[in-house]
Amino acid sequence: MTLSDALHEAARRIDRRDASVLLGALLGCNRAFLAAHGADPIAASHCAQFAQWVDRRAAGEPVAYITGCREFYGRPFRVGPATLIPRPETEHLVEQALARLSSQKWLERRAQPGVLDLGTGSGAIAITLALERPACRVTACDVSPAALAQAAENAAALGARVAWLESDWYAALRDRRFDLIVSNPPYVAEGDPHLSQGDLRFEPSIALTDRSPDGLASIRRIVAGASRYLAAGGWLLFEHGFDQADAARDLLLNAGFEDLICESDLAGIPRVAGGRLG
Ligand code: GLN
Repeated sequence: MTLSDALHEAARRIDRRDASVLLGALLGCNRAFLAAHGADPIAASHCAQFAQWVDRRAAGEPVAYITGCREFYGRPFRVGPATLIPRPETEHLVEQALARLSSQKWLERRAQPGVLDLGTGSGAIAITLALERPACRVTACDVSPAALAQAAENAAALGARVAWLESDWYAALRDRRFDLIVSNPPYVAEGDPHLSQGDLRFEPSIALTDRSPDGLASIRRIVAGASRYLAAGGWLLFEHGFDQADAARDLLLNAGFEDLICESDLAGIPRVAGGRLG
């Protein structure tokens, strides 16, 4: 059997692109290599492993949990059932954070800006910020010890320095203040049909929904607590759901934030909100 035969057979049961991502991950090569080497034979052991992976995908398991890896902001992150799979939308949150961390005002203010990532999951946001802005001191919390273990493994593999803390949002933080707080919290409303569809069925529900009727309970806590943990003039930036931009804005305004931002993702959906503490 050739690589192309294996892909062809798999594509009868699962998405063709998923099939080539899985086979590429299994063989340690990219899709261009697969396309160019379709006539190469596939080893029996690879063939058996590929068939198992195709079965898992056909049963709905996310590709990233099968390969154990997902790229975020150009770097590979290990992911597993303890953490949300990093999404491309969240790269917009990272971009907004990076923009704040390169402004001249910040650099003048602090030699080492303090950054806090709330609900870090796989660590994708915290690790990316730590690697892109090595002058920052990044702290990241999560309520899940399993997620923190995964995040620490990612940081070690990618050579990032981040302080990890088990904490229910701000609960375990002492009186330290940060220059920037970022978060991609759970924001899917309880009972949203998406929770029982596709990849979301396999992801930790604690990372997707806070079980509130409007999905805003975590965002409310994050916004309400931010003033205690932000330095004067510090920024809060967070990701939110497709219909939560107005609510996010009201929460920020009521909590005394200024210079509010509302950034859309590539699909044109408002996705990132934030502001500067006046
Ligand atoms: N954007 C994700 C989704 O709906 C949810 C991630 C989150 O809750 N932070 O697939």
